[in-house]
Amino acid sequence: MRAPAELLATWEAGLAAGPVRRALLLQALAGERSAELPVGARDRLLFGLRRALFGERLTGLLACPGCGTEQEFDFDVANVLRVPAPAEDVVEVESGGWRVRMRLPTSADLLAAAADPPAARAVLLARCALAVQRAGRPVRAEPPAEVVGLLAAAAAEADPAADVRVAMPCVECGRRNTATIDVVSHLWAELDAWARALLLEVHALATAYGWTEPEVLALSPTRRRHYLELVGHG
Ligand SMILES: [Zn+2]
Repeated sequence: MRAPAELLATWEAGLAAGPVRRALLLQALAGERSAELPVGARDRLLFGLRRALFGERLTGLLACPGCGTEQEFDFDVANVLRVPAPAEDVVEVESGGWRVRMRLPTSADLLAAAADPPAARAVLLARCALAVQRAGRPVRAEPPAEVVGLLAAAAAEADPAADVRVAMPCVECGRRNTATIDVVSHLWAELDAWARALLLEVHALATAYGWTEPEVLALSPTRRRHYLELVGHG
């Protein structure tokens, strides 16, 4: 278990950050600081961190786009951790005379793409494409949307941890919905709720006893709970 002060520092640093920066901050808690890790490898670390911090079962709500019915889903993060990591970080697609070889995107690629939203797709492709050929010759042109779609599908298939989905047929209308398990936003929301609750506890104990924040954070969770009961918190 990471020290509360370390988790709080991560939470504070990520408050104003976008999703990719938050993913990197969380990844650092899992002991890996490189932005050059493929997104699937990164998310595997984050699913592992999620298990260490908040347990194996992840729940959420999915609203059916067809009828609006909300349904709760339940996901075991061990499902992701069981899937072996991809043997290689490169995928290749051939279609309509095009042949494209691409490495799996990393957080650094996503950051570069996010910095230029209108050109995000082109930026990602330019960074990750290793070879683009048309009719057997190397070209600099961007492949058509169909080929890009095939590349995205090939990347998702090569590393399922980067794109975790759960089939969720609607109980009301039978629509075949899919829930996307975005580990970054799930883990961030949980860290956020945990941090805000902890700050309230620090506030209660600091007010009651005159202790400093580091003194309160140094207490074990059990002792903290007992003192909180004594001062009538919660
Ligand atoms: Zn429905």
